[in-house]
Amino acid sequence: MPDRIYNFSPGPATLPQEVLTQAAKDIVNYNNKGMGLIEMSHRSKEFIAITDETEQLLRDLVGIPANYKVLFLQGGASTQFAMVPMNLLAPGKTASYLNTGVWARKAIKEAKLFGNIHVAYSSEPSNYDHVPEAGDYQVDPAAEYLYFVSNNTIYGTQFHAYPQSEKMLVCDMSSDILSHPFDVKPFGLVFAGAQKNMGPAGVTVVIVREDLLDRVPENVPTMFRYKTHADNGSMFNTPPCFAIYVVNLVLKWLQKLGGLTAMEKLNREKAGILYSAIDGNSFYKGHARPDSRSLMNVTFNLPTPELEAQFIKEAAGLGLDGLKGHRSVGGVRASIYNAFPREGVEKLVAFMAEFAGKNG
Ligand SMILES: *Cc1c(COP(=O)(O)O)cnc(C)c1O
Repeated sequence: MPDRIYNFSPGPATLPQEVLTQAAKDIVNYNNKGMGLIEMSHRSKEFIAITDETEQLLRDLVGIPANYKVLFLQGGASTQFAMVPMNLLAPGKTASYLNTGVWARKAIKEAKLFGNIHVAYSSEPSNYDHVPEAGDYQVDPAAEYLYFVSNNTIYGTQFHAYPQSEKMLVCDMSSDILSHPFDVKPFGLVFAGAQKNMGPAGVTVVIVREDLLDRVPENVPTMFRYKTHADNGSMFNTPPCFAIYVVNLVLKWLQKLGGLTAMEKLNREKAGILYSAIDGNSFYKGHARPDSRSLMNVTFNLPTPELEAQFIKEAAGLGLDGLKGHRSVGGVRASIYNAFPREGVEKLVAFMAEFAGKNG
């Protein structure tokens, strides 16, 4: 078996090798305490220090203003589809949503359980091959918030400028958080499952503006109230200790690399190599419209489904794993999150040229 392959999986996804090595050691014996990290009480001095440090690292990297809370929750990004409207939409209130793919659609379905949902834009008719620009839609004047998904993992589309609205923004950043700097202030709430770009599965990070915590209707259960978790430093119940710890290591890795500006530069270079290969050979056809192309998930098709299957199989044989596209787009999806090495992209591009030469 090879030491380490190139893992293009959309999530859970590849993590920095130094993070894995450190976590493997700490899971057995943390800080020479004679016990493993996942055996420690979440109320121990050591673990509280880890959580506090993780929050501080995230605050420093993103530049999160003091009037925002950072929460470490469970239930995945999917639980946020319901938790957002439960907390931010009183009965009879309205919110606008941008439907740019499956994850947005699922959020819309849940939100309809709690309020009036206005779908301001949908790119469904063209199989979600783009995200809208500012002039393409109108937000409901009565909307409490405008909800969107910053990166559409399945289709390989991404907002390169966030919606401009006087309404507060709510965003599912699961698949591109920490891939570039962003300004938190227009957002009421941002959430992201960790397993794409931040760590392992099991923890969802929520960044929420403090004044929104008291908006929650009375009948929302304790565990589903952001305020419960904010008031208890994400320790109302047992948090996902190990996942938080690995996020901590990933954030330190990011900091060492130079933070989000440096990360964005690397991401642009990696994605640029891949999109040039697609544009430079008519054998390959990108799914996303060029102006909406994602730097995280690069989707493309080959002339036939048979060739796509052969491509994915041969690539896997070369240690280029996880390239099969989502069934709703087919073809190939190369997920190249922060921790995905540039050499893997170069290897994929070399294979693309060779494969097209043989089969084109
Ligand atoms: C993967 C993903 C989700 C779902 O995350 P879970 O943690 O599995 O619930 C939601 N939104 C986006 C954008 C995703 O990429």
